[in-house]
Amino acid sequence: MNSKIYTNNEYIDWALTHLKLQDLKENYENEINFAIENNIGYRNFLLNILKVEEEGRNNRLIDRNLKAARFENFKTIESFDFNFQKSINIDKIKDLHNLSFLNKKENIILIGPPGVGKTHIATSIGINACKNKKKVLFTSAIDLVEKMSIYQKKGDLKKLFKSLSKIDLLIIDEMGHLVLDKEKESMIFQLIRQRYEKNSLIITTNLPLGEWDKIFTSILSATAVLDRLVHHCHVISIPGDSYRVKGKQKEM
Ligand code: ADP
Ligand code: MG
Repeated sequence: MNSKIYTNNEYIDWALTHLKLQDLKENYENEINFAIENNIGYRNFLLNILKVEEEGRNNRLIDRNLKAARFENFKTIESFDFNFQKSINIDKIKDLHNLSFLNKKENIILIGPPGVGKTHIATSIGINACKNKKKVLFTSAIDLVEKMSIYQKKGDLKKLFKSLSKIDLLIIDEMGHLVLDKEKESMIFQLIRQRYEKNSLIITTNLPLGEWDKIFTSILSATAVLDRLVHHCHVISIPGDSYRVKGKQKEM
């Protein structure tokens, strides 16, 4: 602060800005009034204003993580109708929302035909991870492969892998709508190998694991990828009907 004479209030505002205590700056007047009205002691006052700042920081971090995750839709478990999809084990899905798979660096593969809720469930787990201050990235398999190709052409693939390695939970949607050549297959393999036992993946696919050779150039390559992917993995099969055509068949 320069030598100009400041009032106490001006100094408080300046210091809180300078020290980047944004939430405290916005709320300290209320906290002071609350403390006076409720005759709160010095220690409890300190406790309250620290909580204000900490909670504000957490919320801002969660907002940042949710934005950075680039979810296509904001779908949560609360809006998932388990009565419609009877084949799903509710307890298992709820357990995955508790994120212990993430702490154990395990993967999830959601397999099933279109419209059964694979992306909904993957997104909902991802949102929970963001709320628990984890870094998440949602991407379609096609976009991911395209991005890797662009980075490889620029000679920057290592840079991309480095930034992806900082993501706690990478969600790759619609693996199965891909046909990979040798080069792209090698990039996917590198990605899976890099994440193996270090961070988690959620993959959604319409292809049963036994048919993954349709994505890769050979059964051998598919096996090499699946080997790492399924070693510590929750494989959830959803054989049900599409929610998108729910009720529509009757009209047809
Ligand atoms: P998939 O990824 O398996 O093709 P989605 O998760 O995209 O299917 O689901 C298609 C649409 O139907 C989405 O809008 C999703 O929110 C909704 N949906 C799917 N299953 C359910 C369900 N059991 N309860 C509520 N909405 C569902
Ligand atoms: Mg989907």
